Order: sequence, then C-alpha cells, then structure tokens
Amino acid sequence: MPVRLKKLRRRLAETNLDGLLIGNRENCLYMSGFTGSEGWLLVTRDRAFLCVDFRYVGQAREEAGGWEVVEYRRPFTGTLSQLVVDTGLKTLGFEEEHISYQIYQRLVDKVQGVQWFPVSGLVETLRMRKDATEIESIKRASRLDDLAFEHIIKYLEPGRREKEVALELEFFARRRGGEGASFDIIVASGPRAALPHGVASKKLIQAGEFVIMDFGTIVNGYHSDFTRTVIVGEATAKQTEVYEVVLEAQRAAVAALAPGVTAGEIDALARRVINDRGFGAFFGHGLGHGVGLNIHEGPNLFPGADTVLLPGMLVTIEPGIYIPGWGGVRIEDLLLITETGSEVLHRSTRELIRIQ
Ligand code: ZN
Ligand code: ZN
Repeated sequence: MPVRLKKLRRRLAETNLDGLLIGNRENCLYMSGFTGSEGWLLVTRDRAFLCVDFRYVGQAREEAGGWEVVEYRRPFTGTLSQLVVDTGLKTLGFEEEHISYQIYQRLVDKVQGVQWFPVSGLVETLRMRKDATEIESIKRASRLDDLAFEHIIKYLEPGRREKEVALELEFFARRRGGEGASFDIIVASGPRAALPHGVASKKLIQAGEFVIMDFGTIVNGYHSDFTRTVIVGEATAKQTEVYEVVLEAQRAAVAALAPGVTAGEIDALARRVINDRGFGAFFGHGLGHGVGLNIHEGPNLFPGADTVLLPGMLVTIEPGIYIPGWGGVRIEDLLLITETGSEVLHRSTRELIRIQ
C-alpha cells in the first residue's frame, strides 16, 4: 500500500505532525493490509510500524508488506514509548473519533516526551476515493445483491415471516461467495415498512403489503448496500403514488450524480421531488452515504452537505417515504462516480414488482 502511505504522509505534513497513531481497525486494514482484529499503526515521516501482540506477528508479516512489524507486550504504551524515543517524535496525532477516553488518558500519562494532538478523518478522507481493486470487490458484492433479489422475489409469498426472508437472502449470497451480510438485514412489511431501519421480525408478510428489503454483501472486506420495495398482490392508488414519488426522486438524484457536484446538491434534487408532492415530512433521513470497509462512511449526502463529489467515490442514493401506521417505500442503489458522470452498480429493475 505504498501509494496510500505516500498520500497519508502528505496529509500529515499539512497538519505539521511528526507522526500519527492509528488504532481503528478499518483504517489499519486500509493502510497496511493487516486483517487482524487488533493492532496499532505508527506512521512517521519516514517509517511505518505495525504493532501487534504475539498472536498476530506471523500474520502481520505476511499481510503488511513494507511495514516494520513490532511485537508488543501489554501494556502497549511501553512499546510505544520506546518507538517514540527511537524515532525522535515530538508531535504525534491520535484518531480522536476512535480512541476512548480511557486509552487517551493512558497515552498521555505513559508516553512521555511527545505532544499529543487530536486529529480526525485523515485516513477516512483517503478512503472516500476507491481504487480499482476496491471497486471490483464492491461490484462483485453488488452483483450478489442483484442475484439474491432475483431469487427472493420468487421465494416471497404471503405467509412468509420477515426473518425467513432475511435468512434466505443471507444464505443465498453466502453460498455464492459472499463473506457475510453487510448489516442486520432489513425486511419490513406492512406498517413496519414505516420504520426506516426495521430489522426483520417474526411478522408474517400479508397480501396488500409493501415489503422493504434492505441488504448488502461483504466481499474482500468491502460492503454493498441495496434496497428494493415490492408489493404483495395488488397496489392501491396511494401505494402506487408513494412508490412513483420515491422512484422519481431517486431518478432525479441518480441522473445528476457526477464529479464536481456537492453531496448537498444531490440530496436537494431528490428532496425537492418528495417535498413538491407533499410527502416531505415523511422523508427524515439523508439521501445516501459512502460505502467501503464500513457500511456507512464518507461522503454523506444530506441537506447542506458541502463535500464535492469526485471520481472513485461510491455512494448510495436511497430516498424513502415512511408514513407511520401505514407503511413506506425506499429504493436504494449503489453508484460509482466516474470521470464523466456515474455508473449504477446494481442492475435490478427499480419498477414496482408485484408478488403474486
Ligand atoms: Zn441500505
Ligand atoms: Zn444505505
């Protein structure tokens, strides 16, 4: 990962820090390739250490080419103090969003001779723009989502429990190489479809209900995220109307997604459609988010967001309308921002599917 290290060092120089301590699991993985569940990176202007305990030494050497692997004994602060002396660090950044107050206190108390500075988003900003390998993993995950959806619309029928549907989706993707579900699968039917995060329950799915299915697959540690809403049986006039409004909002945002536009501008396009049709009060979340090693990461699309979208960013577009006691609709696709516009990674139809 020499390119990533070079970019991070450039950012370190901009913040006038001699080094950065990274403990967040995904940031460690992104920077070094080390997949273990515990370890610390210490990045200085000219050296890069991966500190792990006894369990991970072999794995670290195998996975993290170019990093100096240091085995530490607890407490880690002893090893870190020695590295600070050896490298002559004077100022050191720590990830303020990822370090607990307890660990912060230990670092400040036990690691002497260095000044600690909170930093945020240094690695996360790099992670927003994906390289070809990352994009390939997420494309494979998205393809599994499409196949799982194709399968599930044949499997769905009145009388199925939401939990059964969720399990079927997960098994389907895992049998075909998915490492796991991106998150607890959402299957929300009937009035439960008004819950934007209605994790699958024991509820039986019935005729006349909307079913929101929001799921994703992990491939090589990378997540996908996908939602479709289907109707069991025939849709009423109001159900059809709500679905059409969400679809129109989604299309408006997808069509405008391109480099140079801000995340807030894209959010506004979808929100305007929903507001104009009188459902604005029922769309209470942001339009979308980035995905990658985490299911939710930057850039976030919400009202007023000023992040400028750039090629290589991957975002979801997922407007929804949720009417308490009645139900709801959400349509979500994952899109890659390209040099000239954007590419939709999910290929499933967005038209309303009727389950007979
Ligand atoms: Zn989702
Ligand atoms: Zn999402």
